[in-house]
Amino acid sequence: MITTDVLRTTDSSSTACEPELQAQIFDVEYYGTKDGPGIRTVLFFKGCDLSCRWCHNPESQHAAVQLMYHRDHCIGCGRCIDECPSHALSIDSERGVVTDPGLCTLCGRCASVCAFGARTLIGERMSLEQVKRIISKDLEFFRESNGGVTITGGEPMLQRAFLQQLLPWLNEQKIHTAIETAGVYPLHWLTALIDAIDMVFIDFKHIDRQRHLDMTGSSNEASLEALEYLVREHAQKTIVRIPVIPGFNHDRQSMDRMFSHLQRIGCTSTIELLPYHNLGNSKYRSLAMDNEFSGHPSLNEQQLLPWKELGTAFGLTIRIGAV
Ligand code: SF4
Ligand code: SF4
Repeated sequence: MITTDVLRTTDSSSTACEPELQAQIFDVEYYGTKDGPGIRTVLFFKGCDLSCRWCHNPESQHAAVQLMYHRDHCIGCGRCIDECPSHALSIDSERGVVTDPGLCTLCGRCASVCAFGARTLIGERMSLEQVKRIISKDLEFFRESNGGVTITGGEPMLQRAFLQQLLPWLNEQKIHTAIETAGVYPLHWLTALIDAIDMVFIDFKHIDRQRHLDMTGSSNEASLEALEYLVREHAQKTIVRIPVIPGFNHDRQSMDRMFSHLQRIGCTSTIELLPYHNLGNSKYRSLAMDNEFSGHPSLNEQQLLPWKELGTAFGLTIRIGAV
C-alpha cells in the first residue's frame, strides 16, 4: 500500500501555526561515487512500498524507526538491560540480548549506553534545515568534482512533500540532483518533480506481472509506466537499473523479455545490470527478519556478461555495475 509518511512536528524553530516538515532518513553516505557523477552525498530515505525478497537494505523498508541488535559486537555486559526503562530486555545464552517488542518504546537508551555499538536505532527525523546543513558541508567537493546529491531509499518519492522543498533549494545552489526510484506510485508524483531532477535511476525488476508481484509484493504496472515515461520523455537524464537476481530474472527468458520491452519502448538510455550481492545478510539477523535469500551466493560481473551481450544484440546500451 502506498503511504505518504512525510512527518510534521512543531519545534522551537517553527511558528505555532506552521509545523516543520521533516523526513525520515536512515543513512547519509558522504563521498559516494556510484550513484551519479562526481563526489556525492547520498541520502537514504526510510520507508518503501515494495518488500523485495532480495533487498540488501532491509532496514529501508519500514518507515518507522527500528532497533538493530548486532550479536557479533555484543560482549554480554548487560548495561543495556539495566538502562532500559521499560524492562524490555533480557539475556539469552544463544541469542544474546533479546528485546520484547511489546514493551520496547524505541526510546534509544540501550543504544546510547552500549559502548560496543551492538544496539543501534535506525531512522532519524530530520528537518529541511538539518538536511541542508549536511549537504552544505561538501559544497566544495561537489563543485570540484561536478558531483552533487543523490536521493535514494527505500522509496524516496513516498516523502515527496519533503522533496518538493529540498529539490528547489538544491537547484538554487546549483547542486546536481539524482534520485533512485522504483516508480511504484502514481506517475504524476514523478512528473511534478522531474524538472528539478538532473538524473533518475529507475528500477526495472521484471516484465512479468505475477513474478514481480510474488517477489516484491507489488504489481509492476506503475513501475512500467514510469519507465516508459522516463525513457521516452527524459532519455538523457535516465539510467535504467536492472538488479539481476538469481531465481527471479537471472535467466535467458526473463532477460529476453525485458530487453525486448526496452527495445519496443525505444529505450536509448543507459542500462545498468546490477549483480545480486548478499552483503545485507547480517542486517536481516540484526533486525530479526526472515531472509529467504540467505543461502544464495553473490553474483559476479562475469556471470552477467551473457546478459550484456544479449542486451547489446537488442541494440541497447548496457553496462555492468553502477558507475
Ligand atoms: S548490547 Fe551492548 S550494552 Fe547490551 S549487553 Fe551487549 S555489549 Fe553490553
Ligand atoms: S529502545 Fe528503549 S525501550 Fe527499547 S529496549 Fe532500548 S532502552 Fe528499552
